[in-house]
Amino acid sequence: MPTSSTPDPALERPGRSWSGTVDYGPGPLHAPASVEQLRALVGRSRRIRALGTRHSFSSIAASDADLVTLAQLPPDLDVDSAARTVRVAAGVRYGELAVAAHERGLALPNMGSLPHISVGGASATGTHGSGNRRRSLAASVRAIELVTASGELLTLSRAQDPEIFDGAVLALGMLGVVTHLTLDLVPAAPMRQSVHLDFPADRMGGEDLATLLAGGTSVSLFHHWDGHIAQAWVKQVVGDDEELPEEWLGGRRALEPVHPLPGMPADFCTDQSGEPGPAHERLPHFRLEFTPSSGEEIQSEYFVAREQAADALAAVMPLGERIRPLLHASEVRTVAADELWLSPAHRRDSACVHFTWKQLPREVATLLPEIEERLAPFAPRPHWGKVFTLAPEQVRAQYPRLEDFLTLRDRLDPDRVFTNAYVERLLGE
Ligand SMILES: Cc1cc2nc3c(=O)[nH]c(=O)nc-3n(C[C@H](O)[C@H](O)[C@H](O)COP(=O)(O)OP(=O)(O)OC[C@H]3O[C@@H](n4cnc5c(N)ncnc54)[C@H](O)[C@@H]3O)c2cc1C
Repeated sequence: MPTSSTPDPALERPGRSWSGTVDYGPGPLHAPASVEQLRALVGRSRRIRALGTRHSFSSIAASDADLVTLAQLPPDLDVDSAARTVRVAAGVRYGELAVAAHERGLALPNMGSLPHISVGGASATGTHGSGNRRRSLAASVRAIELVTASGELLTLSRAQDPEIFDGAVLALGMLGVVTHLTLDLVPAAPMRQSVHLDFPADRMGGEDLATLLAGGTSVSLFHHWDGHIAQAWVKQVVGDDEELPEEWLGGRRALEPVHPLPGMPADFCTDQSGEPGPAHERLPHFRLEFTPSSGEEIQSEYFVAREQAADALAAVMPLGERIRPLLHASEVRTVAADELWLSPAHRRDSACVHFTWKQLPREVATLLPEIEERLAPFAPRPHWGKVFTLAPEQVRAQYPRLEDFLTLRDRLDPDRVFTNAYVERLLGE
């Protein structure tokens, strides 16, 4: 086994997150070119964290010691048409994976708003798209291969390791460095996307909100806490979902493409014309070939029970005047329940209350406790990769399988090789 990786000199300092708001620490940042090099690196590291494509806004990926990127590993994209699965290196971006699947007549069950995010990073944090019946992206994982603290390569699968698998997939980087994942695929089905604008104020309540969120396979509602929905992005499976009328619940069909953030060019966005196309060109909001924005933002997001979405939004609405000056836009999406122990959608069909903030970290950090206080009656679970200020006890209380997860961590990482300040604060040393 080679004893050292050969980092690209340009990568040796870890630098900052995509948004520039997270400093990953002093490094060094390693970039092994093979799994063997990665094993040797982990085996001799006192402490190490993996970096994905750096899209998280929380300090979940930061480290006071070694960091490793898998960007130099081969993508190993291997679609198995008969089994309807794909095995892929953890550093591959969903957009690339989706194109390879599409060429074989297959598709991912769901995608996040951005196709630029790595499969390993998204699975580690519970990244999600939208859809009342679509689960988080990690729920499609059927096997993982990870380098554990001793440098050994461990394969865990849904079929062979049912007692721990749901704890190992979405593990916040705490159990090892995942080198490859095998994902479920579904038969490719054409989808269309349309956007409706400017809904009347009362549509954010009760039955209307539920009707809007059920308007397609995947729905995103953008608003600015002034009581009305500005944009409804509806992604439909052609043949399954009923096409929406030009006027829908008082919103009118957009005649030109729009961007969810005011003032941003719509060229970055996926097709909104209603024309059928591949799912990976409709499910994400943004196109792989464009950088969706300059990164001048911070994100926060809270999962609540889907049936309480309207009440949760109404509880935060009185803060609208304080929120708006700090906000680019807010989004409401839904995620179907899954079984993953640390998933924010664990055993709860969820609605996600999301904020894309302007890059005003201090002001945002001052306002978040007030938002969280108003959401507290709805038992919010924060997105692990976004910014929140909930106390560790509040977060821990939302995860009934947390003790099982911590037992699994004791087993796989007794010396805490994969810890960092973020996980120590939230989940303990
Ligand atoms: C513009 C934008 C849009 C976004 N849209 C969405 C969205 O639609 N839905 C949503 O849910 N989130 C969204 N996010 C948040 C983002 O999906 C998550 O933060 C996700 O975790 C980022 O993945 P990443 O590859 O950048 O991981 P990183 O941020 O680099 O790392 C995240 C975590 O994963 C761990 N990790 C990464 N790779 C590995 C590995 N190989 N082995 C073990 N652990 C690993 C890291 O240690 C860290 O703990 C968005 C973020 C941005 C910037």
